[in-house]
Amino acid sequence: MTYNPDLLDRAKRHPEKQKNPDRPMGKKPDWIRVKAPQGAVYEDTKDIVKKFKLTTVCEEAGCPNIGECWNKKHATFMIMGEVCTRACSFCNVATGKPDALDKMEPLRVGVAVEKMNLKHVVITSVDRDDLDDGGAEHFVKTIEAIRFKSPETSIEILTPDFKNKDGATDAVARGRPDVFNHNLETVPRLYPTIRPGARYFTSLRLLERVKEVDPSIFTKSGLMVGLGETREEIGQVMDDLRAADVDFLTVGQYLQPTPKHAPVERFWTPDEFADLEKWARAKGFLMVSASPLTRSSYHAEDDFLKLKAARADKLKHAVI
Ligand code: SF4
Repeated sequence: MTYNPDLLDRAKRHPEKQKNPDRPMGKKPDWIRVKAPQGAVYEDTKDIVKKFKLTTVCEEAGCPNIGECWNKKHATFMIMGEVCTRACSFCNVATGKPDALDKMEPLRVGVAVEKMNLKHVVITSVDRDDLDDGGAEHFVKTIEAIRFKSPETSIEILTPDFKNKDGATDAVARGRPDVFNHNLETVPRLYPTIRPGARYFTSLRLLERVKEVDPSIFTKSGLMVGLGETREEIGQVMDDLRAADVDFLTVGQYLQPTPKHAPVERFWTPDEFADLEKWARAKGFLMVSASPLTRSSYHAEDDFLKLKAARADKLKHAVI
């Protein structure tokens, strides 16, 4: 048998998925194509990530936008290690038993944000169901370290559901990030196959709770399409998110990372994304970003400015 390092790496990253049958990864439509990552700023970003021993979701999730984002010095840092305690069927982050938390990591992230002179930063993490607080305190420490090293930087966090552990969401919200993002990822019917370790209403409640703790924090959530959901089901999720007072919705096309992951059921066209965006705006979100390559942190800095402007405009026109 020929030695194939790629297959070996995939098997190590996703041991739980090796029993799945291979599901062919069909050809992507033209509108999904992206340029190979390269360029001077891209290399600078890569050097900083390496120098500060940071992990990025851009690399771990094999994000198609890495060339564009890193060339604008926009990377999404992933804290609490590279190994996730869950095994979602869409996700390319490695599954297994994670290492102990690195207590110096929050400071390293803070220093990197300062060195990169970032105006806006996005911090995400793996799921840490093994920790008593699901990693809430580590998130707070990271927010504090960034505020200390780079007080002008706006902070966006993209969190797991902390396995619904007592007080975790409240603690992180009290850390006062500017944007609190938690992705629903898919419609409730598909949770058992796509996000088996999570519960739809737990995630929805987390988003609602953030606003109860601090209504000034912007809340944000994201969906992937192409997993077999219907337009009507997406509409219901939009209504649920609005009922939880979520401000910002992102919708992007799911891409299958390996043949062992959930297959793409279909590619939604750019026109269908435009239709979803229009529909979501009509339902009252302050901001909506829907396109085939939209990801939670794609264009996050520009979108944060638009989000602030949209809230200011809404308040200006509010009837008191
Ligand atoms: S969209 Fe987000 S995850 Fe993807 S490369 Fe850009 S910053 Fe990284």
